[in-house]
Amino acid sequence: VDFWADVEEAPRDPILGVTEKFLADPNPNKINLGVGAYRDDDGNPVVLDCVREAEKRIMGSKFMEYLPMGGFKEFCDHSLKLAYGETNPLVTGNKIAAVQSLSGTGSCRLMADFMHKFKPGAKVYITVPTWSNHHNIWGDARVEKETFRYYKPETRGLDFDGMMEDIAAAEGGSFFLLHACAHNPTGVDPTADQWREISKLMREKGHFPFFDMAYQGFASGDCVRDAQAIEIFLSDGHMVGCSQSYAKNMGLYGQRIGCFSLTCNNEQEKIAVESQMKRIARATYSNPPLHGALLVSTVLGDPELKALWYKEVKGMADRIISMRTALRNNLESISGDSWQHVTDQIGMFCFSGMTSEHVDALYEKSIYMTSNGRISMAGVTTKNVETLAKAMHEVTS
Ligand code: PLP
Repeated sequence: VDFWADVEEAPRDPILGVTEKFLADPNPNKINLGVGAYRDDDGNPVVLDCVREAEKRIMGSKFMEYLPMGGFKEFCDHSLKLAYGETNPLVTGNKIAAVQSLSGTGSCRLMADFMHKFKPGAKVYITVPTWSNHHNIWGDARVEKETFRYYKPETRGLDFDGMMEDIAAAEGGSFFLLHACAHNPTGVDPTADQWREISKLMREKGHFPFFDMAYQGFASGDCVRDAQAIEIFLSDGHMVGCSQSYAKNMGLYGQRIGCFSLTCNNEQEKIAVESQMKRIARATYSNPPLHGALLVSTVLGDPELKALWYKEVKGMADRIISMRTALRNNLESISGDSWQHVTDQIGMFCFSGMTSEHVDALYEKSIYMTSNGRISMAGVTTKNVETLAKAMHEVTS
């Protein structure tokens, strides 16, 4: 007997194809703009100094036992302060249910499973476009998905009117999956005023905002500013949920460390909600990994290391922001056209507006990115930015 004869090969992840092409290219000056991880100005991966110091401090730690189902309590407490603010009454009043998660992906999956279990039939609204895994996560958790307008190709900016219309048209009590900052893949975020309007409308309609915050601090360089959307929604009286990830902002990609949280109306509700989050975790992976939780708690729990982390995350954000300026300036001086969207957008990615034909033409020049024209700004350096700008101009003009 053959149990798996009917299993068809899954569609390939688009990013894998880009990486394979890049690796197979013998050109020593090839440029990889597909990668979703930070690189320094020499194109190398980075381990933050605050993390190196935390590693030293936890080295030889005697504790290698299982964490509880909800993870390391101290880690969750630090994470909530970071996302919601140290003095937020929800934080100080113990009204936020939270568990340590397997990074941002794991938080999103816990949310999707939680929705499926406790709000059956509710729909999740997802931006067009979005990080492609959002579709996999909520789809696999069997939550009904809808989309809402977000990006306007003509302006390469936010489709604010379309977004507001879709929020207004959605059935009351729907769930909206919002990118807290540094929208992936477009790099387009609402302004603070636009967030205020979105929040008001969503409150009127009784929708639930769930914030995927995979880039706190990494977008603007300021952790407080990058969490402003959450603050705005909370001040309008929303109940909110949040997925935090320390992959990008602390460079802990492979440690799979994040936090999943839902605000509650009182402490009793918090206890019940958290117990059900743990129940889902128990059946899925039992308990989360230890190392990343110790690292993050060590960094956030020591004022000096925390200050160092703030400086380092700002350093990463600033390098990316300066590469946006350099790319725009190079493109504009070569082409004479406006490339303002390159600097208007924020975060790891630039949605360049190039088509898949343009991207194919760039492969011929040993420059690699996903076919939707998304440039990982982390791959741009002072050494390759001019070459990149010339190539982009050549294929688009
Ligand atoms: N959400 C968004 C919008 C992302 O861009 C990413 C990573 O690319 C994630 C979540 C999850 O990343 P991780 O699971 O590595 O924290």
